[in-house]
This record gives sequence, structure tokens and C-alpha cells, in this order.
Amino acid sequence: MTATTNISCVHRTTCRLCNSSDVAIVLPMVPTPVADDYVSSDRVAVPQQAFPLDLYQCGACGHVQLLDVVNPDILFGNYTYTTSVSLGLTEHFRRYAAEMIERGALGDDSLVVEIGSNDGTLLRFFKVQGIRVLGVDAASGIAAQATAAGIPTLPTYFTVDLARQIRRDHGAAALVAANNVFAHVDDLGGVADGIRELLADDGAFVFEVSYLVDIVEKMLFDTVYHEHLCYHSIKPLQRFFRAHGLELFDVQRTASKGGSLRCFVQRSGGPHAMQAVVEERVRLEIDSGLDSPAPFRALHERLQSLKSELLETIDRLLGEGKMIAGYGASATVTTLSHYFDLGSRVEYLVDDNPRKHGMFSPGHHLPVLASDALYERRPDCVVILAWAYAEPILQRHARFTAEGGRFILPMPRLRIVGR
Ligand SMILES: [Zn+2]
Repeated sequence: MTATTNISCVHRTTCRLCNSSDVAIVLPMVPTPVADDYVSSDRVAVPQQAFPLDLYQCGACGHVQLLDVVNPDILFGNYTYTTSVSLGLTEHFRRYAAEMIERGALGDDSLVVEIGSNDGTLLRFFKVQGIRVLGVDAASGIAAQATAAGIPTLPTYFTVDLARQIRRDHGAAALVAANNVFAHVDDLGGVADGIRELLADDGAFVFEVSYLVDIVEKMLFDTVYHEHLCYHSIKPLQRFFRAHGLELFDVQRTASKGGSLRCFVQRSGGPHAMQAVVEERVRLEIDSGLDSPAPFRALHERLQSLKSELLETIDRLLGEGKMIAGYGASATVTTLSHYFDLGSRVEYLVDDNPRKHGMFSPGHHLPVLASDALYERRPDCVVILAWAYAEPILQRHARFTAEGGRFILPMPRLRIVGR
């Protein structure tokens, strides 16, 4: 159920998992443009549209989600990120494939389908073992590259109709994998129905998502941006799958992206045994109040007090005539710098990703420079906006502090390093 506000962003009025209209804001956020839409100099004069980013919780099933859905063509239309560029991720997928092959006893006649298969990095690890693979990815440029490189990839969105077509053309899937896309799709009901159509009776759907428990406990509020529509926990998912003729039978915690959840799902009545860990985790979620607004209210208060502390410090330094830069130019930085209102306080950003150099940050249009700027331009203070990487950044730039520079860490508590 949706009500169109404009063509770029649609506001849902119901829960994405259970369709209840009992939804309320639990974590008010600051509107931002698309978080990874860093712009080149020719777009700097054009203001970028900001979209609401508030987190809602469903009173019926507890699911935490964004209800403001930015048009996927705007979000992913220029999507050029390829998995194989990220070396850590490639190793993660190699191990993932080995584990799935063993666990699912996959062999030559098995079909593995991946939704959101990107450049085929994961599927390649199945293919080299002689397993049949098929990718689905709506980023048509990347899909074409993957196909040309030997990983057949359908350049489209995954729907029930597509699932039926795949089953007709290739047979039922022993494994359907989806990594992160389960947080990206608005019509999750349609995806679940498609997966039920596509799965073999003894097949498994396996997906990885960031875990809401980690987001709350580690205060990863800056992982909230428009690409991530859902902030999953097990209790709401269990009920959701049941309603779609599926069954969540196992979960594992993984360390990727600050804390993730790997979920195993089969068709209702399938042969895989229900693992005790599922109910244990649901119990932990209930005991920590995760299905209620309480932990989000606490997070909101903590963030608000961090914000005043940070701005007090920065405004005092600015009053002394100090020059302040920011470290990091990622999607999380967009959420964080808007939330903490840093756009007019920071002069420029530095980042170690050469692809970001010469670009300007979403909304604030702060120039992004190489981290050499710390030594060439000598800012007095650098706020580490990419705070998850604070330790490696501090180590790499020990010279900056040794030469009198100061780092400010905004999270998880305010900390100043240097004189
Ligand atoms: Zn719900």
C-alpha cells in the first residue's frame, strides 16, 4: 500500500513485511540525498534533492524499516560498484560458496541462482566446482559484463514471473542466494513468493543482511540510508516467511559489515531440521526489547547528546579560527554528516578511495581530496566521519598528530586525539 508523493520518492503507509498500517517513527533522522551520490564538478551548482530517512517500526510484527522509498532507478541507476574490486569480500564469498556446497551437498546437476549477483564473484566459486549457476541483477551494464565473463546473468529485477520462467528454463534451484539485496528491495513479499516458486523441495534460500541487534548495540545509525530499506531481526522475518509458505530454519552470525545475519529458509514442510538457535535468538531479541520502541528511543537520546557534545567542540574550535576537515567519503558519511549538521562546519573531505577524489559530497557538496591534503593543506582538526575505520586511519596518519594535528572521533563516544 503506497501513496505517491513525487516520482522520485514514494512513502509507504504499511509494514514491508506484514502489511500492517500500525507503523510509527522510532528513530527520527535528518533527510539526505542519495547517500552514495557523490557528484562531479559539473553538477556542483545543482542542488540535490533530500529525501526523508526516518526509521519506522511496525507495531504488529516489530520490523524496523524505512517507509520513504527512493525510486530504484535513481538509487541504483548509476550503480557501478563491482564486488570483485573489494578483495576482502571476494575471500568472504569463496568461503561462503565452499560452505554452501558442503552443507547443501551441491553437485553437477544442482542449480544455484543468485539475486543481485553483481559481477558474478560469488557464482564463479560454484561454477568452478561444476555446478550450474544463474545470476539476476538489474544493473544491466554489470550483468552484461558478468555474462560475457562466463556467468550467465539476467539483467532484470527478481519477480514471481521471472522465478517461474527460470524454473521452466533451468529447473528448480537447490540454492537461491541473496546477499544484501534482501535489505534493498521494497516488494519483499514478491521476492519471497518468487523464491518459493523457484526452490526445489529440498532446496534452501540463503541470504545475508545486517543484523538490527548490531546496529542498535554498536550505534551503527549511519548505516541507515535509502539503499537499505530494511533493518532485519529474526522475529519479524520468521512470521514473514511463514506467511509466504516458507520457513526460516537456521541462522548464523557473521562478522561482515559490522555484524550480519545469515539466514536459511526452506519451503514449508521441507526436509531441513529446525535449529534451536532460531528460537534462542528470537528469545534474546524479545528480552532486549528489540520488538519495541525502547532501544531506539535510547539510541536517539544517546545520538542527540553526542551531537551537542560534538558541535560544542567543533564550534569552539571554529571560533578560535581553526580549519576543520572530515575523513571519509562513503555512504555512511552522508548520513552522519547530515545528522550531525557538519556541512557548513567542515571545509573539505579526504578519502583513500581514488574514485572519490575530485568529487563533491552529496548535498553539502564538500570537495573530496586525497589524504595527502592532511600534510599539504594542514587542517587543524580532522573529524573521522568514517569512524568504523578510526584505528587504521589513526595509525596511517600518526605523522599528522605528531606534527601537531588533531583528530576528532565523533563515535561511539567523543574522543580527541592529538594536541
Ligand atoms: Zn509488520
